[in-house]
Amino acid sequence: MRVLLVEDDEPIAESLTRGLSRYGFEVRWVRTGSEALAAEDFALVLVDLGLPDVDGLDVCRELRARSDVPIIVISARSDEVDRVVGLEIGADDYVTKPFGVREVVARMRAVLRRVQPAAKEPEQHGRVRIDRRGRRVHLDGGEVELTPKEFDLLAFLAEDPGAVFTREQIMEAVWDENWFGPTKTLDVHVGVLRRKLGDAASLETVRGVGFRLVLT
Ligand code: CA
Repeated sequence: MRVLLVEDDEPIAESLTRGLSRYGFEVRWVRTGSEALAAEDFALVLVDLGLPDVDGLDVCRELRARSDVPIIVISARSDEVDRVVGLEIGADDYVTKPFGVREVVARMRAVLRRVQPAAKEPEQHGRVRIDRRGRRVHLDGGEVELTPKEFDLLAFLAEDPGAVFTREQIMEAVWDENWFGPTKTLDVHVGVLRRKLGDAASLETVRGVGFRLVLT
């Protein structure tokens, strides 16, 4: 997912870029408001308020005037007025510096969930039907009994069939943990899903990286 980061503070921008890429986000970093307004085609924008050329609030206002792209303000200004103004002019959330990458990722996910609500209609992927609202999965018309975590894992991988998700991304999204150690729980769940879905789905192991779901 492509994210635009508008931040003139180099150490902050570098650590955030590095951190977000570990979570699978593709970050384009610009330092000024004018560069931000010239950039196109992003799924989400992170905007610092103290920019060298214009006020970040003006960047938010301008971005909002032209699109519905989710905007999160990241700022050292913890001033309540800035927060209120930021949200009033269309920012979706506000994170105060200093922050951890995890906190930013959590806010980003929450904002993305709000703007992209779960699909109302069940999705049909080949022989597998996923009903995100009802949290049910059918295979060839028959319901597949899944535990909540098995459902979450399948639903997460099925958000982008064919794409490789790293173990870390999956652990963070499904188990809500930043996991750098062994991920045996994940392997166990993958094994169960493989068994329950049979040849209708292929949960491919991408050695040293993670998993990809191919639904046939
Ligand atoms: Ca700044």
